[in-house]
Amino acid sequence: MDIKKTIQRIFLQTIGSGINHYLLSVLGIGITALLCTPLYNLQGYHIVSFILLFVVSIMATFMGIGPVFVAATLSALVWNFFFIPPNLTFHIDKTEDILMFGLFFIIALVNGVLTSKVRRQERLALDREERTNALFQQTRELSKASGIDEVLAVAIEGIRNHFHTDPFFILQDGNNILYSSGRLQKDKKLSKSEYNTAEWVFTNSQKAGKFTGNLSSVEYTFFPLPGTRLSPGVLAVKLDQLFSGDQKAFWDTFLTQISNALEREFLGELAQKARFLVESDRLYKTLFNSISHELRIPVATIMGASDSLLNSLHPENVQSALFNEIFTASLRLNRLIENLLNMSRLESGQISVRLDWYDMNDLANKVAEDLKDELKPYSLVVSIPDDMPLVKIDYGLLEQALYNLIYNATQYAPVASEIDLCTRYNNGTMIIQVKDHGPGFPEAALGSVFKKFFRVDGSKTGGLGLGLSIVKGFVEAHKGTVAVENREGGGSEFSIRIPTENPDINNLQLENE
Ligand code: ADP
Repeated sequence: MDIKKTIQRIFLQTIGSGINHYLLSVLGIGITALLCTPLYNLQGYHIVSFILLFVVSIMATFMGIGPVFVAATLSALVWNFFFIPPNLTFHIDKTEDILMFGLFFIIALVNGVLTSKVRRQERLALDREERTNALFQQTRELSKASGIDEVLAVAIEGIRNHFHTDPFFILQDGNNILYSSGRLQKDKKLSKSEYNTAEWVFTNSQKAGKFTGNLSSVEYTFFPLPGTRLSPGVLAVKLDQLFSGDQKAFWDTFLTQISNALEREFLGELAQKARFLVESDRLYKTLFNSISHELRIPVATIMGASDSLLNSLHPENVQSALFNEIFTASLRLNRLIENLLNMSRLESGQISVRLDWYDMNDLANKVAEDLKDELKPYSLVVSIPDDMPLVKIDYGLLEQALYNLIYNATQYAPVASEIDLCTRYNNGTMIIQVKDHGPGFPEAALGSVFKKFFRVDGSKTGGLGLGLSIVKGFVEAHKGTVAVENREGGGSEFSIRIPTENPDINNLQLENE
């Protein structure tokens, strides 16, 4: 079997040298013989044999055994027929000429064998270099890839390029159960028997399928994707024969690299899921604690005041004070519920932004009107330049954002202080600032103020820590940003930046029509 293969290989190599090399060798010897004719007349026939031998040796350095042998035979025959006396016969008289005749073949054979050996080694070295490069490039690309899908894309591309076969990755779902279709190749699905083979490979961490001793009746060959802490799954490929020798080592290393990258991504996903669970558990507890605490106070106020109104007779001024208490507590409840609803809209991605052209003066007046009771003990200074253009915003969302900022200022700034609401337009961006003379924020808290349920330690009751995160969500829905800093003389300064077009009067008219 092996001998047959070796003969086949030599035959293919010989033919593989190319018809061109055969032609070249015949032509080369023919032309050399022609060129040697004048030299033969001057110097005799021995010099011709050296020149022909030299040409054969040169040919042996770049041609395969076949063409070199043809060149050697042709040289010997041409030399014998045309140059060795008696000319135009194949007769050789002298022993040294017979020796020279044989030398052509020996030199051709030795040179040819040596050259093809050197060439084979060269090819092996080149192959090895190519593989090392491929592995190096694969390592680099896999380390850059983030997420299972990106790793798979790199792996599929690599296997197609270097092994010329279409790979099919069957990954597990995180609970050690294999999917039956490729994660990136949804169109590829395993048949029942193929799936069973894949499962066997996954459980036994051994290859199976075509060309292996295990479950070999299927079309694919299945390879386990090894992992130190978990196996990402199984790789199926259609092969003409199993890899062997250097190619097998290359394949195994390639597969290990892919497996490692997939395992890294799997572990990353698991860690993220675990973090997410801890985070949602924490959020649930915070929400539960804050809601039960914050709801209880206004509800208790409403119950107490209404009970007192129902069961006792009070003078008019006490009655009106009790009604007032009920109203204030209801407003507080309403605000809490509003914030919770807005938060859940943001969380579920249900916020749809309806942009239209508005005058910032209208918006400022509306917010001031909404908060007129809270603002009574303060002086709200609104500054909007006369040339402030109309801005394209979602009126409802921005009204809520400004409401939350100014409401907070009334909660935390000292009574009788000034609250500023400034708006300007600069180069495609609308800037809104809300400034107060309150306590500002502790430096350590500045990075967290827009997080859900964040409250500065010791803040007065009446909030869930949602107001500022809603401001952030609504501003970001406008593709804008919100930032906070402490003012130099004390107090906080919130700055909203929203990209908005400068209205084109013609467009406006069209929209109004
Ligand atoms: P809350 O509804 O609890 O007020 P917010 O998200 O609106 O929630 O505010 C978060 C925390 O930020 C508040 O608990 C408060 O401590 C602090 N805060 C908000 N606005 C101001 C402000 N203008 N000045 C000082 N502290 C503020």
